[in-house]
Amino acid sequence: MSLIVQKFGGSSVANAERVMNVAKIVTDTYKQGNDVVVVVSAQGDTTDDLIAKAKEINPNGSKREMDMLLSSGEQISIALLAMAIQSLGYPAVSLLGWQAGFSTNSVYSAARIKTIHKERLKTELSERKIVVVAGFQGINSKDNITTLGRGGSDTSAVAIAAALHADKCQIFTDVDGVYTADPRKVKNAKKLKEITYDEMLELATLGAQVLNNRSVEMAKKYNVELEVISSLNPIPGTIVKEVTKMEKMLVRGVTKDTQVARISLIGLDDIPGVAFKIFSKLASKNINVDIILQSVGRNETKDIAFTVSKDNADLAIESLRELPFVGEDIEIKCDTNVAKVSVVGAGMETHPGTASTMFEALYNNDINIQMIATSEIKISVLIDIKDADKAVEAVHEAFLG
Ligand code: ADP
Ligand code: ASP
Ligand code: MG
Repeated sequence: MSLIVQKFGGSSVANAERVMNVAKIVTDTYKQGNDVVVVVSAQGDTTDDLIAKAKEINPNGSKREMDMLLSSGEQISIALLAMAIQSLGYPAVSLLGWQAGFSTNSVYSAARIKTIHKERLKTELSERKIVVVAGFQGINSKDNITTLGRGGSDTSAVAIAAALHADKCQIFTDVDGVYTADPRKVKNAKKLKEITYDEMLELATLGAQVLNNRSVEMAKKYNVELEVISSLNPIPGTIVKEVTKMEKMLVRGVTKDTQVARISLIGLDDIPGVAFKIFSKLASKNINVDIILQSVGRNETKDIAFTVSKDNADLAIESLRELPFVGEDIEIKCDTNVAKVSVVGAGMETHPGTASTMFEALYNNDINIQMIATSEIKISVLIDIKDADKAVEAVHEAFLG
């Protein structure tokens, strides 16, 4: 007998028929003698709809209340799925994040799981129940509800699999695996049989939303093998693990991220310590900075530009204005009409010419590069948002077409 964790995303439980389909998959697994923990997301666009409802009433509602609101979406799904399983004649119990033992820190809307108190999960499993857990949520040390950030149900599933030493963690979604690019956007995208944690982590961080990047990070840390698989099409999916058997591909995937903003500070004094003070200020506000560019300006000045996520742009500018040397004479520009397009692949490390192939593909399509960032296994460029889809298509064609 094995313990299997199965996670179903929003589109997999979007309506009654889909919920019954999930109940069928889950009970088939249970019938084979396995213990099953199911993690579910809110139905369809519920989370987006809840955000819209909040904005109608107060666009600046506190993060605590936002988490209280958003966690309700998953509450609906778990109860409906437990009832669906019961209707098929199997025992099921639904648990909210706190009931399932999810203890998190207090960073509302981006909480981190501290630990999972396993007692309740274990008791329910020992009674041979199918345990249906609300993804994306937990509770902090003051008993307030927290959420893990968008797409966080993947992380809930991996965390349970790690805590209970599950034999399998399956992430069911609306595509049948991880592809070399978003299969809904790039028609030549190819499905990968296997991918390493490191490559998947880069793809997820750089915009491939099929897995949440924190879930991949956690899977790597606790060595939880993941399978990304379709809830509608029963064929083998993609395995995410430490080492893959696949032939070494130069590039494993192409991604785009349109949730970025570029902030530029123009006319800074060209003296030591300026960059340090800027980036430590941003770090103190928990703002992640990505691509950074410093260039020489006129008259002993320099310009510094960097990218942050769109959600953080206003806060970043506000905090920078608190710095004594960022006075009226320093111009701050913010451009949200940008996108980051990246290629990812462990093979790039030892293969010269990857960058030039990427830049040539962009040049051939008349796409201007605004910023560039590289690491051993990725190259990212910042371009105009209107060119993003064309760029992904062109770069994908150049490496994987
Ligand atoms: P869920 O609701 O199941 O969590 P998501 O919408 O979060 O599903 O993620 C699945 C979507 O990710 C797919 O519908 C697909 O459009 C998108 N996606 C983006 N990049 C990729 C990729 N490289 N491979 C597979 N899917 C991708
Ligand atoms: N319902 C949440 C969201 O839409 C969590 C998830 O789907 O993983 O982001
Ligand atoms: Mg998701």
